[in-house]
Amino acid sequence: MKVTNLKNCYCHTCKKAFHCLGIARHRTKHKERQESCKTTYTNGGTSKHDYAETDNQQPKELIKLPQ
Ligand SMILES: [Zn+2]
Repeated sequence: MKVTNLKNCYCHTCKKAFHCLGIARHRTKHKERQESCKTTYTNGGTSKHDYAETDNQQPKELIKLPQ
């Protein structure tokens, strides 16, 4: 089996590996859906991000383009 260092970040919530550059984007996806997620980064550190029911919750239709 060929070892690759490209996907060395991991989302425990989705049980999927991600590229170190892709994990931030993936985390944003969880944030947008107001889901908590737990991710492990390249340096081996694991962070839990709790995006559910935050105080500064933004309305879903927050972007209104000028007519
Ligand atoms: Zn995930």
